[in-house]
Amino acid sequence: MQPTGRLHLGNLEGALKNWVALQNDYEMYCCIVDWHSLTSDYEDTSTLQEKIKEVSLDYLSAGLDPNKCAIFVQSQVKEHAELHLLFSMITPVARLARVPSYKEKRKELGLDSYGFLGYPLLQAADILIYKADYVPVGKDQLPHIELAREVARKFNTLYGQVFPEPEALLTKFPVIPGIDGRKMSKSYNNDIAIADTAEETTKKVSVMFTDPQKIHKNDPGRPDLCPVFHLHKIYTENYQEVHTLCSTGKLGCVEDKKNLARNLNQKLKDIREKRKELEKNPEKLWKVLDQGAQKARAKAGQTMQDVRKAMRLIQ
Ligand code: ADP
Repeated sequence: MQPTGRLHLGNLEGALKNWVALQNDYEMYCCIVDWHSLTSDYEDTSTLQEKIKEVSLDYLSAGLDPNKCAIFVQSQVKEHAELHLLFSMITPVARLARVPSYKEKRKELGLDSYGFLGYPLLQAADILIYKADYVPVGKDQLPHIELAREVARKFNTLYGQVFPEPEALLTKFPVIPGIDGRKMSKSYNNDIAIADTAEETTKKVSVMFTDPQKIHKNDPGRPDLCPVFHLHKIYTENYQEVHTLCSTGKLGCVEDKKNLARNLNQKLKDIREKRKELEKNPEKLWKVLDQGAQKARAKAGQTMQDVRKAMRLIQ
């Protein structure tokens, strides 16, 4: 995850919850990618440390356990940069220019730097440096995983087998909509944060987009097109009943949203309480990140030895 601020429900349901479940069965590396965040937020870095703290608080409160997985900051493991540099020698510029997120965000955010073009290649290095078999991400990341697979194949063909080809591990909810119905994203300003208060959450849910054809309370709605219903599927036990009531015109949007907000706040209560506790002890967070970086460096260092040997950079 990028340290661009507090994580939102898309990050939680699309990725983080999966990590919490996987940490018991896999050797796992959870990286806060500060270099990546500089591709867009390079002008004002005054709050970067604060944002790193926020993401690590979200990680730990959601249930990541530093004894089971390595939690660390990307820039503390310099090997990622070395591998990125070497990958940049074998990757055509045209291949990077074809990546969908490059094309979209370049226009949308007006980004045009060398580092921004190389973003998915740095991500390939983040993945391959741990010789990862699986990458637990949301659906939006699939083109980036595909690039990582291609880079692994090309490297192996040129210099001999070093990297496995990583596969994505999607969750049950690969795309969570934001309050405006687009993909929930920090950069669209349409998110509900894990750390929002119950009141903030209720307010955000109350202005969520709904089916535009359902104008009056008793109009039948189309829940399958409605972002509010999408969140019900995650946070409401009897969501099928909501579907029936909405589509037969027996449930108005105002009441429906109130119900969703209540369920959402209930489901997030434990995470939010844990977060409040952890906030009291920031020293502990920095220690977790230091320990994580040590563990990550050990593994990344081994991989780089294999890479340097394969490329004849060392004997
Ligand atoms: P953002 O779009 O807010 O900047 P990131 O691109 O940093 O989020 O995403 C971090 C992780 O969270 C990725 O694994 C991504 O797939 C997942 N993710 C982000 N937004 C969503 C969403 N709306 N639905 C599902 N997963 C998401």
